[in-house]
Amino acid sequence: MANQDFPLIFERSKEGRTGYSLPDLEVPEIDLDSELDDAYIRKNAPELPEVSELEVMRHYTGLSNRNYGVDSGFYPLGSCTMKYNPKINEDVARLDGFSHIHPYQDPETIQGALEMMYDLQSALKEITGMHEISLQSAAGAQGEWTALMMIRKFHEANGDYQRTKVIVPDSAHGTNPASAAVAGFDAVTVKSNEDGLVDLQDLKRVVGEDTAALMLTNPNTLGLFEKDILEMADIVHKAGGKLYYDGANLNAIMGYARPADMGFDAVHLNLHKTFTGPHGGGGPGSGPVGVTKELEPFLPKPVLIKRDGQYMFDHDRPQSIGRIKPYYGNFAINLRAYTYIRTMGAEGLKKVSEYAVLNANYMMRKLEKAYDLPYNQHCKHEFVLSGKKQKKLGVRTLDIAKRLLDFGYHPPTIYFPLNVEEGMMVEPTETESKETLDGFIDTMLTIAKEVEDNPEIVQEAPHNTVVKRMDETTAARNPILRYTK
Ligand SMILES: *Cc1c(COP(=O)(O)O)cnc(C)c1O
Repeated sequence: MANQDFPLIFERSKEGRTGYSLPDLEVPEIDLDSELDDAYIRKNAPELPEVSELEVMRHYTGLSNRNYGVDSGFYPLGSCTMKYNPKINEDVARLDGFSHIHPYQDPETIQGALEMMYDLQSALKEITGMHEISLQSAAGAQGEWTALMMIRKFHEANGDYQRTKVIVPDSAHGTNPASAAVAGFDAVTVKSNEDGLVDLQDLKRVVGEDTAALMLTNPNTLGLFEKDILEMADIVHKAGGKLYYDGANLNAIMGYARPADMGFDAVHLNLHKTFTGPHGGGGPGSGPVGVTKELEPFLPKPVLIKRDGQYMFDHDRPQSIGRIKPYYGNFAINLRAYTYIRTMGAEGLKKVSEYAVLNANYMMRKLEKAYDLPYNQHCKHEFVLSGKKQKKLGVRTLDIAKRLLDFGYHPPTIYFPLNVEEGMMVEPTETESKETLDGFIDTMLTIAKEVEDNPEIVQEAPHNTVVKRMDETTAARNPILRYTK
């Protein structure tokens, strides 16, 4: 793995070189041999790199320069909402009064922090229309599971033990059927129709007395609004099931539509997506859950309440599904989301959705000239192209994604949702300028032209990155996780 331009830290090592020296001992040295069993005593010195402080600095700075994030460039990874994370969030998260408190402190001494959480819950209630919110769950997937456990307990409380099935559209995010399974349900698929929306006839076919819930994201993962949502809610409710809203995609509808008004009984939100928690490395996240009054008794405990002007945790919740995470959620991520909501205001959040939808439609209409657009209607916050045309010329969507790296872009989400052949799911977000959108559009059109004129350059991409085309199958099956000389 040696690389001339960027030697790894082991390759920088020179025997005897040090970057740090410990002060002389001020206490008598202990005799390890008499203190420790022989089996625990190292026979050879560890093989650590011997480098100066400057070499260590260059190693880590070099690594960080290779990192790609939304602060370094455009990141249209569909369904992930890679928008700019305002730096004022970081300032607030670092305030002593927030960063130096401990969850075991007496609630009386952290009233300000609890007030922030309470206000955040109120704001999320307003945005979603739900009756109550819990900030406990740490990610979207955990939020899904939490809500499904509540729905399960609700049915059990009614003696409805036969409700063992959760209906999931074929375009659903992979976490939906997975959460259903982990919550002890069987996931049943409902098909999409030729417009990319849930097929109502198929929904009527799969719904029944064994239905616990329908899980849905609206707009769906194709970026399309399920316009028949009220009818769908009616079908599921009449059968005694509940509706669960996967709110990872709230970026398209804030201030315009609320899950509660669409008939949903439970929802999770991804604060690390729509509400600017930094999540390029996969976390930490926050996936609050919102529910109707009917499901409120089942919320994870403790529940944050306000009584006689004091904020406190209510542990006396006999029907609760119990605690789902230590303490009370990812506090610092919730704080960033709170800062974002307060700095944007209600009108600002509405504008966010307007621009997110405008940017996606602008890009979609420019790119449909070169790429197949399987569902040709106005989109919401994202859209899905198909690389079908390019595949006929021997170039796959994976190749196009790799070629984008040469031009300095993070690729869109590819091969998802599963119901689109050679799919490319593009989510520009509201924070990008027209110039950035145009730059990406030009690059995508350039690549489409290359596919026609010079397909090899795309098939063999990337050419400009540190690591070239990898054998992904071997990398997954036989990973080499340790440094070898
Ligand atoms: C991201 C996402 C999830 C999962 O959220 P995590 O925080 O990654 O667990 C679920 N559904 C949709 C539609 C998503 O985009």
